Amino acid sequence: MKNMTSPTVITEYMKSSDFFFKKNLGQNFLKDENVARSIVGELGGERKDAVLEIGPGFGALTQFLTEDYDDVTALEIDPFAIGVLKDVFSDTEGLRIVRGDILREDLPSLLGDQLTAGKRLRAISNLPYYITSQVIIKLLSSDIFFENIVVMVQKEVSSRLSAKKGTKDYSAFTVLLNYYADVVRCFDVSHTCFIPQPKVDSTVMKIIPLEKRRAEVSDEERFVRTVKAAFSMRRKTLLNCISMNFGISKDEAKERIASAGFDPAIRGEILSLEEFAALSEAMPL
Ligand code: SAM
Repeated sequence: MKNMTSPTVITEYMKSSDFFFKKNLGQNFLKDENVARSIVGELGGERKDAVLEIGPGFGALTQFLTEDYDDVTALEIDPFAIGVLKDVFSDTEGLRIVRGDILREDLPSLLGDQLTAGKRLRAISNLPYYITSQVIIKLLSSDIFFENIVVMVQKEVSSRLSAKKGTKDYSAFTVLLNYYADVVRCFDVSHTCFIPQPKVDSTVMKIIPLEKRRAEVSDEERFVRTVKAAFSMRRKTLLNCISMNFGISKDEAKERIASAGFDPAIRGEILSLEEFAALSEAMPL
Protein backbone atom coordinates (compact mmCIF):
# COMPACT_ATOMS: atom_id res chain seq x y z
CA MET A 1 0.00 0.00 0.00
CA LYS A 2 1.17 3.56 -0.69
CA ASN A 3 2.33 5.74 2.19
CA MET A 4 -0.54 8.22 2.63
CA THR A 5 1.56 10.66 4.66
CA SER A 6 3.99 11.16 1.77
CA PRO A 7 3.56 14.62 0.17
CA THR A 8 4.49 13.10 -3.22
CA VAL A 9 1.75 10.47 -2.96
CA ILE A 10 -0.78 13.06 -1.73
CA THR A 11 0.05 15.33 -4.68
CA GLU A 12 -0.20 12.43 -7.15
CA TYR A 13 -3.65 11.49 -5.86
CA MET A 14 -4.78 15.11 -5.93
CA LYS A 15 -3.89 15.33 -9.62
CA SER A 16 -5.43 12.00 -10.61
CA SER A 17 -8.72 12.58 -8.76
CA ASP A 18 -9.33 16.33 -9.31
CA PHE A 19 -9.09 16.78 -5.56
CA PHE A 20 -8.45 20.22 -4.08
CA PHE A 21 -8.17 21.15 -0.40
CA LYS A 22 -11.40 22.61 0.97
CA LYS A 23 -10.81 25.11 3.73
CA ASN A 24 -14.46 24.98 4.81
CA LEU A 25 -14.05 21.26 5.59
CA GLY A 26 -10.90 21.89 7.65
CA GLN A 27 -8.79 19.88 5.19
CA ASN A 28 -5.21 19.89 6.44
CA PHE A 29 -3.70 16.46 5.83
CA LEU A 30 -0.96 14.96 8.00
CA LYS A 31 2.30 14.47 6.17
CA ASP A 32 4.34 13.12 9.06
CA GLU A 33 4.36 9.34 9.33
CA ASN A 34 5.75 9.23 12.88
CA VAL A 35 3.10 11.63 14.15
CA ALA A 36 0.35 9.58 12.46
CA ARG A 37 1.67 6.38 14.04
CA SER A 38 1.90 8.02 17.48
CA ILE A 39 -1.68 9.33 17.29
CA VAL A 40 -2.99 5.85 16.45
CA GLY A 41 -0.79 4.44 19.25
CA GLU A 42 -2.73 6.54 21.80
CA LEU A 43 -5.95 4.55 21.10
CA GLY A 44 -4.69 1.41 22.84
CA GLY A 45 -7.02 -1.53 23.45
CA GLU A 46 -7.03 -4.73 21.43
CA ARG A 47 -7.02 -5.75 17.77
CA LYS A 48 -10.59 -7.05 18.09
CA ASP A 49 -11.94 -3.62 19.19
CA ALA A 50 -13.88 -1.58 16.63
CA VAL A 51 -12.70 1.89 15.67
CA LEU A 52 -14.66 4.80 14.24
CA GLU A 53 -12.44 7.24 12.37
CA ILE A 54 -14.00 10.63 11.62
CA GLY A 55 -12.64 12.51 8.62
CA PRO A 56 -10.01 10.10 7.22
CA GLY A 57 -9.09 12.44 4.34
CA PHE A 58 -6.62 10.44 2.21
CA GLY A 59 -6.01 7.91 5.00
CA ALA A 60 -3.00 9.24 6.95
CA LEU A 61 -4.32 7.62 10.15
CA THR A 62 -6.42 4.93 8.44
CA GLN A 63 -3.32 3.16 7.07
CA PHE A 64 -2.04 2.53 10.62
CA LEU A 65 -5.49 1.88 12.10
CA THR A 66 -6.05 -0.97 9.65
CA GLU A 67 -2.70 -2.47 10.69
CA ASP A 68 -3.66 -2.42 14.38
CA TYR A 69 -7.43 -3.16 14.37
CA ASP A 70 -9.61 -5.68 12.50
CA ASP A 71 -12.68 -3.47 12.31
CA VAL A 72 -12.37 0.16 11.21
CA THR A 73 -15.20 2.43 10.03
CA ALA A 74 -13.94 5.55 8.25
CA LEU A 75 -16.58 8.26 7.91
CA GLU A 76 -15.75 11.02 5.42
CA ILE A 77 -17.92 13.85 4.11
CA ASP A 78 -15.99 14.71 0.94
CA PRO A 79 -16.85 12.49 -2.08
CA PHE A 80 -13.50 13.28 -3.72
CA ALA A 81 -11.63 11.99 -0.66
CA ILE A 82 -13.92 8.93 -0.63
CA GLY A 83 -12.86 8.20 -4.22
CA VAL A 84 -9.19 8.30 -3.23
CA LEU A 85 -9.74 6.17 -0.10
CA LYS A 86 -11.58 3.48 -2.11
CA ASP A 87 -8.67 3.30 -4.50
CA VAL A 88 -5.90 3.30 -1.88
CA PHE A 89 -7.59 0.77 0.40
CA SER A 90 -9.24 -1.44 -2.23
CA ASP A 91 -7.43 -4.56 -0.93
CA THR A 92 -7.62 -3.74 2.77
CA GLU A 93 -9.73 -6.09 4.86
CA GLY A 94 -11.68 -4.93 7.89
CA LEU A 95 -12.12 -1.36 6.63
CA ARG A 96 -15.53 0.13 5.87
CA ILE A 97 -15.46 3.48 4.07
CA VAL A 98 -18.67 5.44 4.57
CA ARG A 99 -19.65 8.75 3.06
CA GLY A 100 -21.43 10.90 5.64
CA ASP A 101 -21.49 13.93 7.89
CA ILE A 102 -20.63 13.09 11.48
CA LEU A 103 -23.02 15.79 12.71
CA ARG A 104 -25.99 14.15 10.96
CA GLU A 105 -25.02 10.52 11.34
CA ASP A 106 -27.07 8.28 13.60
CA LEU A 107 -24.26 6.55 15.50
CA PRO A 108 -26.20 3.50 16.75
CA SER A 109 -27.20 2.73 13.12
CA LEU A 110 -23.72 3.42 11.75
CA LEU A 111 -22.14 1.10 14.32
CA GLY A 112 -25.06 -1.33 14.60
CA ASP A 113 -23.10 -4.44 13.54
CA GLN A 114 -20.25 -3.66 15.91
CA LEU A 115 -22.69 -3.14 18.79
CA THR A 116 -24.57 -6.35 18.00
CA ALA A 117 -21.27 -8.23 17.96
CA GLY A 118 -20.56 -6.80 21.44
CA LYS A 119 -17.32 -5.13 20.33
CA ARG A 120 -15.64 -2.46 22.41
CA LEU A 121 -15.62 0.85 20.53
CA ARG A 122 -12.99 3.53 20.17
CA ALA A 123 -13.04 6.75 18.16
CA ILE A 124 -10.26 8.76 16.56
CA SER A 125 -10.05 11.93 14.51
CA ASN A 126 -7.78 14.64 13.30
CA LEU A 127 -10.81 16.86 13.76
CA PRO A 128 -11.91 19.54 11.35
CA TYR A 129 -11.53 22.64 13.56
CA TYR A 130 -14.97 24.04 12.69
CA ILE A 131 -16.85 21.22 14.42
CA THR A 132 -14.44 20.16 17.19
CA SER A 133 -16.65 20.72 20.21
CA GLN A 134 -19.86 19.56 18.51
CA VAL A 135 -18.29 16.25 17.47
CA ILE A 136 -16.78 15.56 20.89
CA ILE A 137 -20.05 16.33 22.70
CA LYS A 138 -21.99 14.24 20.16
CA LEU A 139 -19.76 11.20 20.79
CA LEU A 140 -19.93 11.63 24.56
CA SER A 141 -23.68 12.20 24.83
CA SER A 142 -24.66 9.43 22.40
CA ASP A 143 -26.06 6.11 23.61
CA ILE A 144 -22.82 4.44 22.55
CA PHE A 145 -20.03 4.02 25.05
CA PHE A 146 -16.59 4.68 23.56
CA GLU A 147 -13.70 3.26 25.59
CA ASN A 148 -11.69 6.29 24.56
CA ILE A 149 -11.64 9.04 21.96
CA VAL A 150 -8.33 10.29 20.58
CA VAL A 151 -8.57 13.67 18.87
CA MET A 152 -6.18 16.17 17.42
CA VAL A 153 -7.44 19.72 17.98
CA GLN A 154 -6.07 23.22 17.52
CA LYS A 155 -3.65 23.97 20.37
CA GLU A 156 -5.71 26.85 21.74
CA VAL A 157 -8.83 24.65 21.81
CA SER A 158 -6.92 22.14 23.91
CA SER A 159 -6.61 24.71 26.72
CA ARG A 160 -10.41 25.06 26.73
CA LEU A 161 -10.67 21.32 27.30
CA SER A 162 -9.02 21.50 30.70
CA ALA A 163 -9.53 25.15 31.76
CA LYS A 164 -10.14 26.09 35.41
CA LYS A 165 -13.35 27.89 36.38
CA GLY A 166 -13.27 31.68 36.25
CA THR A 167 -10.51 31.75 33.59
CA LYS A 168 -11.06 33.08 30.06
CA ASP A 169 -10.75 29.59 28.55
CA TYR A 170 -13.46 28.15 30.83
CA SER A 171 -16.49 27.54 28.61
CA ALA A 172 -19.68 25.52 28.26
CA PHE A 173 -17.53 22.97 26.40
CA THR A 174 -15.17 22.67 29.43
CA VAL A 175 -18.05 22.05 31.82
CA LEU A 176 -19.78 19.50 29.59
CA LEU A 177 -16.56 17.64 28.85
CA ASN A 178 -15.81 17.41 32.55
CA TYR A 179 -19.34 16.08 33.12
CA TYR A 180 -18.82 13.21 30.66
CA ALA A 181 -15.12 12.39 30.71
CA ASP A 182 -11.51 12.64 31.87
CA VAL A 183 -9.16 14.43 29.49
CA VAL A 184 -5.44 13.71 29.01
CA ARG A 185 -3.13 15.94 26.98
CA CYS A 186 -0.86 13.66 24.92
CA PHE A 187 1.50 15.76 22.74
CA ASP A 188 1.70 18.81 20.50
CA VAL A 189 2.01 18.66 16.72
CA SER A 190 3.69 21.46 14.78
CA HIS A 191 1.75 23.17 11.97
CA THR A 192 4.62 22.16 9.67
CA CYS A 193 3.42 18.52 9.81
CA PHE A 194 0.41 19.30 7.59
CA ILE A 195 -0.30 19.94 3.97
CA PRO A 196 -1.50 22.65 3.43
CA GLN A 197 0.06 24.22 6.55
CA PRO A 198 -2.44 25.77 8.96
CA LYS A 199 -1.38 28.91 10.87
CA VAL A 200 -1.51 27.27 14.30
CA ASP A 201 -0.10 24.17 16.00
CA SER A 202 -2.27 21.30 17.19
CA THR A 203 -2.49 19.08 20.26
CA VAL A 204 -3.46 15.43 20.54
CA MET A 205 -5.87 14.77 23.40
CA LYS A 206 -7.21 11.53 24.83
CA ILE A 207 -10.77 11.72 26.12
CA ILE A 208 -11.77 8.89 28.44
CA PRO A 209 -15.56 8.73 28.95
CA LEU A 210 -16.68 8.06 32.52
CA GLU A 211 -18.88 5.05 33.17
CA LYS A 212 -21.02 7.25 35.38
CA ARG A 213 -21.51 11.01 34.81
CA ARG A 214 -19.43 13.16 37.14
CA ALA A 215 -22.46 15.02 38.53
CA GLU A 216 -25.99 13.87 39.21
CA VAL A 217 -28.80 15.63 37.36
CA SER A 218 -32.44 14.59 36.99
CA ASP A 219 -32.71 15.82 33.39
CA GLU A 220 -29.58 15.80 31.21
CA GLU A 221 -31.07 17.93 28.44
CA ARG A 222 -32.02 20.65 30.93
CA PHE A 223 -28.52 20.51 32.45
CA VAL A 224 -26.89 20.96 29.02
CA ARG A 225 -29.26 23.83 28.24
CA THR A 226 -28.46 25.53 31.56
CA VAL A 227 -24.70 25.33 30.98
CA LYS A 228 -25.00 26.64 27.42
CA ALA A 229 -27.31 29.46 28.61
CA ALA A 230 -24.92 30.56 31.35
CA PHE A 231 -22.07 31.02 28.84
CA SER A 232 -24.18 32.43 26.02
CA MET A 233 -23.34 36.08 26.77
CA ARG A 234 -20.07 36.27 28.69
CA ARG A 235 -20.44 39.87 29.86
CA LYS A 236 -23.99 39.47 31.11
CA THR A 237 -25.11 38.26 34.53
CA LEU A 238 -26.43 34.76 35.12
CA LEU A 239 -29.86 36.36 35.56
CA ASN A 240 -29.84 37.87 32.07
CA CYS A 241 -28.49 34.73 30.42
CA ILE A 242 -31.02 32.43 32.09
CA SER A 243 -34.01 34.72 31.51
CA MET A 244 -33.12 35.20 27.84
CA ASN A 245 -32.29 31.56 27.00
CA PHE A 246 -35.15 29.93 28.89
CA GLY A 247 -37.60 32.60 27.70
CA ILE A 248 -38.77 33.45 31.23
CA SER A 249 -39.22 36.83 32.93
CA LYS A 250 -36.37 38.32 34.95
CA ASP A 251 -38.44 37.97 38.11
CA GLU A 252 -38.96 34.27 37.50
CA ALA A 253 -35.30 33.74 36.59
CA LYS A 254 -34.21 35.59 39.75
CA GLU A 255 -36.45 33.44 41.91
CA ARG A 256 -35.28 30.19 40.33
CA ILE A 257 -31.55 31.06 40.56
CA ALA A 258 -31.93 32.19 44.18
CA SER A 259 -33.89 29.01 45.05
CA ALA A 260 -30.84 26.98 43.95
CA GLY A 261 -28.71 29.04 46.35
CA PHE A 262 -26.95 31.37 43.87
CA ASP A 263 -26.74 35.14 43.53
CA PRO A 264 -28.50 36.10 40.25
CA ALA A 265 -25.96 38.91 39.74
CA ILE A 266 -22.95 36.58 39.30
CA ARG A 267 -21.55 35.49 35.95
CA GLY A 268 -21.95 31.86 34.93
CA GLU A 269 -18.23 31.38 34.37
CA ILE A 270 -17.51 31.25 38.12
CA LEU A 271 -19.70 28.17 38.67
CA SER A 272 -18.23 24.67 39.01
CA LEU A 273 -19.70 21.55 37.40
CA GLU A 274 -21.48 20.57 40.64
CA GLU A 275 -22.90 24.09 40.96
CA PHE A 276 -24.21 23.96 37.39
CA ALA A 277 -25.84 20.62 38.21
CA ALA A 278 -27.58 22.20 41.24
CA LEU A 279 -28.60 25.28 39.23
CA SER A 280 -30.09 23.18 36.44
CA GLU A 281 -32.43 21.43 38.90
CA ALA A 282 -34.13 24.80 39.53
CA MET A 283 -34.69 25.55 35.83
CA PRO A 284 -37.97 24.90 33.99
CA LEU A 285 -38.25 21.65 32.03
N1 SAM B 1 -7.40 12.33 8.88
C1 SAM B 1 -6.80 13.03 7.76
C2 SAM B 1 -5.37 13.39 8.09
O1 SAM B 1 -5.05 13.37 9.30
O2 SAM B 1 -4.61 13.68 7.18
C3 SAM B 1 -7.60 14.30 7.37
C4 SAM B 1 -7.79 15.29 8.48
S1 SAM B 1 -8.55 16.81 7.97
C5 SAM B 1 -8.02 17.86 9.31
C6 SAM B 1 -10.26 16.63 8.39
C7 SAM B 1 -11.07 15.66 7.51
O3 SAM B 1 -12.42 15.64 7.98
C8 SAM B 1 -11.15 16.03 6.04
O4 SAM B 1 -10.90 14.91 5.26
C9 SAM B 1 -12.59 16.52 5.85
O5 SAM B 1 -13.09 16.32 4.55
C10 SAM B 1 -13.32 15.67 6.89
N2 SAM B 1 -14.58 16.28 7.36
C11 SAM B 1 -14.87 17.59 7.50
N3 SAM B 1 -16.11 17.76 8.00
C12 SAM B 1 -16.62 16.51 8.20
C13 SAM B 1 -17.88 16.04 8.67
N4 SAM B 1 -18.83 16.88 9.07
N5 SAM B 1 -18.08 14.69 8.72
C14 SAM B 1 -17.11 13.82 8.31
N6 SAM B 1 -15.89 14.23 7.85
C15 SAM B 1 -15.65 15.54 7.80
